[in-house]
Amino acid sequence: MKMPLPDQRVLARRDEIIAALRRIVPGEGVIERPDELRPYESDGLTAYRQPPMVVVLPETVEQVAAVLSYCHKHGVKVVPRGSGTSVSGGALPLADAVLLGMGKFNKVLEIDYEDRLAVVQPGVTNLAITNAVEGEGFYYAPDPSSQIACSIGGNVAENSGGVHCLKYGLTTNNVLGVQFVTIDGEVLRIGGKALDAPGLDLLGIIVGSEGLLGVVTEVTVRILPKPETARALLAGFPTVESAGQCVADTIAAGIIPAGMEMMDKPAIHAAEAFVNVGYPLDVEALLIVELDGPAAECNHLLEEVQAIANRNGAVTLRASQDEAERLAFWAGRKAAFPAVGRISADYLCMDGTIPRGQLPKVLRRMNELAAQYSLDVANMFHAGDGNLHPLILYDASKPGELERAEEFGADILRLCVEVGGVLTGEHGVGVEKRDLMPVMFSEVDLRQQQRLKCAFDPDSLLNPGKVFPTLHRCAELGRMHVHRGRLPFPELPRF
Ligand SMILES: Cc1cc2nc3c(=O)[nH]c(=O)nc-3n(C[C@H](O)[C@H](O)[C@H](O)COP(=O)(O)OP(=O)(O)OC[C@H]3O[C@@H](n4cnc5c(N)ncnc54)[C@H](O)[C@@H]3O)c2cc1C
Repeated sequence: MKMPLPDQRVLARRDEIIAALRRIVPGEGVIERPDELRPYESDGLTAYRQPPMVVVLPETVEQVAAVLSYCHKHGVKVVPRGSGTSVSGGALPLADAVLLGMGKFNKVLEIDYEDRLAVVQPGVTNLAITNAVEGEGFYYAPDPSSQIACSIGGNVAENSGGVHCLKYGLTTNNVLGVQFVTIDGEVLRIGGKALDAPGLDLLGIIVGSEGLLGVVTEVTVRILPKPETARALLAGFPTVESAGQCVADTIAAGIIPAGMEMMDKPAIHAAEAFVNVGYPLDVEALLIVELDGPAAECNHLLEEVQAIANRNGAVTLRASQDEAERLAFWAGRKAAFPAVGRISADYLCMDGTIPRGQLPKVLRRMNELAAQYSLDVANMFHAGDGNLHPLILYDASKPGELERAEEFGADILRLCVEVGGVLTGEHGVGVEKRDLMPVMFSEVDLRQQQRLKCAFDPDSLLNPGKVFPTLHRCAELGRMHVHRGRLPFPELPRF
C-alpha cells in the first residue's frame, strides 16, 4: 500500500513548523517527541503504521482555524483525527503531516428537548450524546459498535452506521448542521437547527467526506425519544440461506426492525466464548432481530417475525422477556470484533454492501475464497441493510499472511460490486479501499469527485493519499497531457 512520498522540503522545516504551531496552541497542545508520537501512529486499521511529523491538539475553533491557515500558507499537510477507531485507515498519519487531534473538543454545548436536538463538539463520543440526554428519555440513534470510544466528528466524517440504522438512518440522516473550518482557516456554518437549510445541500457533501474537505468543529444532531418498548429475538438457522431468506421475507412483509443482525458459525462461537449469553452453538447462522415502539405494536411484530422465522426453518427461537435479556442478546454481537480478536492474532475487518437477496451467493463464494487463500473468515453483519463485515483472520508475524489477507479482502469487495453492491457500507474508503475505487467508479465519476475535493482544498493538503487512487494536481484535473510518454508532475505518486 503506497502513500504520498514525504516532502523533504517540509521535513527540513520541521523545527520551524513546530515552533509556529506552539505559538498557536501553547502548553501541552503540541506533541513532537518520537516516543509520544507512537500512540498516534495508526488507527483501528493497525496493519498500517506511520508516526506523524507532529500532533496538534487544539482546544478552540480559533486555534483550529489558525493551524489550518498556517498549514495552508506553508504547504503543510493535515490529517484530522477523532478517536482513531477508523477501520479503513482514515486517520493514518503521514510522515510530513500535522495530525490534528480533536479529542479536546469534548463538550456537549446545548440540549434542546423541545426541538429534539443537541449541539456538541466533535470530540464527544457517540455514546456520550445518549448519556447526556437519556435522563429525559431521549437518545441518539446511530450506534456504531465502537460507540463507547468513537467521536461524533469521526462519525460525521465516515457517515457511520450501526445496528439501529436500518430503521433510524445513518449519521447523515441524524445530523442537522455542522460548523466547519476550511483549509484556509475560514469558519463556515452548514445546515443548522431548522429542518431545511437554504442553498445547495453542502451538509450532504460534508457527511462522509473522510477529513478531505475540512475540519468539523461542532455538530448539531437529532435526538429521539426512547421507544416505549424494545424486544429482541434470537433465531438460529441450519443454513445461511434460510436465515437470509428470513431477512428478505421480514422486510418484504413491510416490517422494519430496529435492528436485524446476522452472525455465521465462526462468529457465533467467538462471541459466545467471549460473553457467555447462551447463543446456540449448533446452528449455521444466528439472527438477532429487534422490534421497538408501543408495547402492543412491538409484541405483535415480534410474533409476526417469529412466524416468518418458523416458516424459514428456524431451529431455535428466543424472545427477550426483559431489558436485561435484550441487552444480553446484543452483548455478543456488539462485542463481536474484540471476541474475534481473542481467537486470531490479527484480523482485517471488511465492509461491503450488497442487495439483500445476494446474501447466500456472496457468503458461499466467500467460503470458497477462504479455502483458496487458506485463511479463515468470520461473518457478522447488518443483515437488514445488506452491509457485510467479514473479518479475515491472519497472523501478521507469518510472512506473506497480511498480503494474502489483503488480496482476499479485495476479492470480497470486488464480489460485492459484481453482485450490484458497493465498496463500503459505513467504514469509509480511507486507504483500505482506495485502490479499489476504479472497480466501482469510472474515470469520469472519479474526476467529478476530485473536482469537488479541489473546490475545498486546491492544494490537496487535507488527508492526502486517502479515498482517491490517484493524486492529481487540481490544476491538471481533466486535462492530463502525456508528452512523449511522460506525465506532467512526474514526482507525484500515482499509486
Ligand atoms: C471495534 C470497532 C467497531 C466498530 N463498529 C462500527 C460500526 O458498527 N459502525 C461503523 O460505522 N463504524 C464502526 N467502526 C469504525 C469507526 O469506529 C467509525 O468509523 C468511527 O466513526 C470513527 O470515529 P473516530 O472518532 O474514531 O474517527 P477517526 O478514526 O479518528 O477518524 C476517522 C476519519 O474521520 C476524519 N475525522 C475525524 N474527526 C474529524 C473532524 N472533526 N473533522 C473532519 N474529519 C474528521 C479522519 O480524518 C478520518 O478520515 C468500528 C471500529 C472499531 C474499532
